[in-house]
Amino acid sequence: MKKIGLISVVCCITLCLNAVEVTKEGKPASAIVIPAKPEKSVQYAAFELQHHFRLMTGCTVPIVREGEKFSGQPIYLGKTLASADAGLEVGKLKREEYLVAVRTDAAYLAGVDDEEYGSIEYGNQSALPPLEYHNHGTLWAVYDFLRQGCGFEWYAPGDNGITYQKHTSLSVAPFTLRRHPFMKAFRMIYAPKIFKAYGQPYTPYEVQQLKLRWKQTIRYGIVNHNIYGIWIRFYAPCKSPWLAKYFEKKHPEYFAQNYKGASRTHLIAMRSQYPDDEQLPPQLCNTNKDVIRILAQEAVDRSRGKKVVGVSLSNQVKKMKDEPFYYPIQPDDNHGYCRCADCLKLFPDKYRDGQRPDNYIHFEWMSKIAREAGKKAPDAGIGTLAYNTTTPYPEGLDLPSNLSVMIVLNMSNFWHRLSRQRTDHMLDGWIANEKDKRLLTVWLHLLAPAWDARIVYKYNDFFPGYYYHEFARHLRKMTDGGVMGYFIESGDEISVPFWYQHLELYLASRLADDPSLNPEKLRDDFFRSYYGAAAQPMRQFYDLIEYAYMNPSNYPGDQLSRFNTLGAFQSEEVNWGKCGTKERMKQLGRFLTQADRLADTPEVRERLRLLREGMWNPMLRGRARWEEKEKYINRPVLSAEYQPMPEAGGNLKKVDWNRAAKIDSWRTIDGFPFSLKAKLLCAVDKTHLYLRYEEQGNEFSKGVKSLWEGDHLEIFLASQGALPVHQLCIGANGMIERYGHYYKNDAAYSTAWNYGPEPVVQTENGRLFMETAIPLRSLRTGSGKEIRLNLFRVFPGGKKGCWSPIFVPAHNTPERMGRIVLRDNF
Ligand SMILES: [Zn+2]
Repeated sequence: MKKIGLISVVCCITLCLNAVEVTKEGKPASAIVIPAKPEKSVQYAAFELQHHFRLMTGCTVPIVREGEKFSGQPIYLGKTLASADAGLEVGKLKREEYLVAVRTDAAYLAGVDDEEYGSIEYGNQSALPPLEYHNHGTLWAVYDFLRQGCGFEWYAPGDNGITYQKHTSLSVAPFTLRRHPFMKAFRMIYAPKIFKAYGQPYTPYEVQQLKLRWKQTIRYGIVNHNIYGIWIRFYAPCKSPWLAKYFEKKHPEYFAQNYKGASRTHLIAMRSQYPDDEQLPPQLCNTNKDVIRILAQEAVDRSRGKKVVGVSLSNQVKKMKDEPFYYPIQPDDNHGYCRCADCLKLFPDKYRDGQRPDNYIHFEWMSKIAREAGKKAPDAGIGTLAYNTTTPYPEGLDLPSNLSVMIVLNMSNFWHRLSRQRTDHMLDGWIANEKDKRLLTVWLHLLAPAWDARIVYKYNDFFPGYYYHEFARHLRKMTDGGVMGYFIESGDEISVPFWYQHLELYLASRLADDPSLNPEKLRDDFFRSYYGAAAQPMRQFYDLIEYAYMNPSNYPGDQLSRFNTLGAFQSEEVNWGKCGTKERMKQLGRFLTQADRLADTPEVRERLRLLREGMWNPMLRGRARWEEKEKYINRPVLSAEYQPMPEAGGNLKKVDWNRAAKIDSWRTIDGFPFSLKAKLLCAVDKTHLYLRYEEQGNEFSKGVKSLWEGDHLEIFLASQGALPVHQLCIGANGMIERYGHYYKNDAAYSTAWNYGPEPVVQTENGRLFMETAIPLRSLRTGSGKEIRLNLFRVFPGGKKGCWSPIFVPAHNTPERMGRIVLRDNF
């Protein structure tokens, strides 16, 4: 590729000799000239150019078609006759290649454009060129012209996200480039929520527009879970009629064996098509020859533009002219791999601690499919993921060249040494061995701390994590290693506003386009041009957030020695107790106040407002909530007292409830008051614990099928603040489940706990009643002098109350269980 070279702003504010004059003293001095029959994307490129000129100079440079009259110097866009006359071989550009030639008398901007015609209306969603499987090279040329020639940059959606210097006169000094974006396969930030949380004003139009300004696209090689055509055709008819019609014949041997009755949580993507099927196989068989043949044929068919039976990416991927083609094949996101005799025999020497060598099994399977497809159609490749247990490089396997690999990597926990080492190990393994042999791309998770906060620990407002510098180092490693595509899953997916990650996202877009750029300089430019006079305090603001998040000494020691692939490090206690401390939040607040004072343009003031609304105010809310919660967390757990009573021998009728411990005050799991008209009595004699629960104003909802649909009662019992723990769950329609949670060989496990007769449950007339006698023996409680207990009442929609607040999502938190104790003076 030809490099842009030094990014230098070469616009001239005053008269510049030997330059293309765009505007002069507030008047147009040029015209945007498009072909007589312009492609839609060239028209859009012309409107974008006109829009930017108008922002900078306040005047409207006319757009004319070649052959129409115009005055001033021409800026030619697309495949014009003039560009051919000027000796520019626009017709020879291939794939994403584009050129910019600014001369003394004219400028030429052109690339490969889809031959789609018809007029468009700027500002309309339908006018935006599609991001996927389309050519709009002239638009790329326009953006490079605007950046290098005129000093524009794009940091956020909408006009407010564009930076530039205002002039009334604009002229552009000569420069030439001919290039294509570095990452050729795809460059895509997944943003399904369009950065919209907290009522931010971005529209889908503005977000797609920013994606275009960031040269986002998909051309080939993208992968996602995509393997479902075989269920549709050969497992059983789907629930939806439009899929059911593709069913051909039952072939149980195609599917993962030995999952009978064990598939309740498996086959995530297709579960809705087989809702009541307890036998649904979670994966395919990895050794069945027909499966290999069928999947290879799908790839061949799709490479030739034929429709295939499937969901997900099956028919979304397309073969573009002059580009390679990889059909995505990736198992469902579950670990239910086939346990047939042949599959269990695979790679016996690669088992580690009894763990299947998933990476070897997966990549050998994919290789067979790719070889089969390659035999039938030389340009049909297979794309798959190196994901989860298949991420480690399968040393020694011979992979065919038409197999592309998208490596799934976590980018947001670099502060954690073990997590960082794992990421490096995976990435290095693939690059070192496969760099020159195949298409390598990456799927990057930029999800922490948002994921941990909102999905794992269920607190909404969190202290953000910036990790620009480590991210830059890893992006560099990828581009040096020949990685040709990135797909980013960002916090947007869980409705986190743009501001929590905008610099990281911006960086990815720039380095994927041109890896020779210096990340430090990009960051310097950002503060200077985006925050203007407020650059200094804003740089300190970003620096402090990055320092707080990235410095391992800001985390509790036991976290650093533990590791799990899911992350889940940012509990609320770590996030607000260690990263977003009171002192840091005060300091950050001071930086923002200074920035507000220094901001000297309406644009910068608006950017500061957006940051406050989108990130800082939620941070303040999160901090305040944590401080409120802290008051409860450090409190001793609750206790209730019982008095001795005559032996009832397990007979509920003989219990003297007047001597029972009485619990009738309820809280949320976070310690806030919870309104529930209910009373739990706990009576104890020498042999039994007797529980009686009465609730007024509610009864279990009828018609639920599972205890876990969210209308139930859970009681946890233990003899100390640790395992073993016993769990009694009661739900609608007489559903009762009882479990014991124990330790064995340093591992926790759960099993049924049938301590005796089932509890008596009545739920009717707005009243809920439960009574049970539990032998102390079955609780393994020792003396019975102290029993640890907690109760949760869960309502539909997720609302729940408990006796002793646990401050974490897992109900089974023995250390926070309350105490049932014998009253001292008896
Ligand atoms: Zn098998």
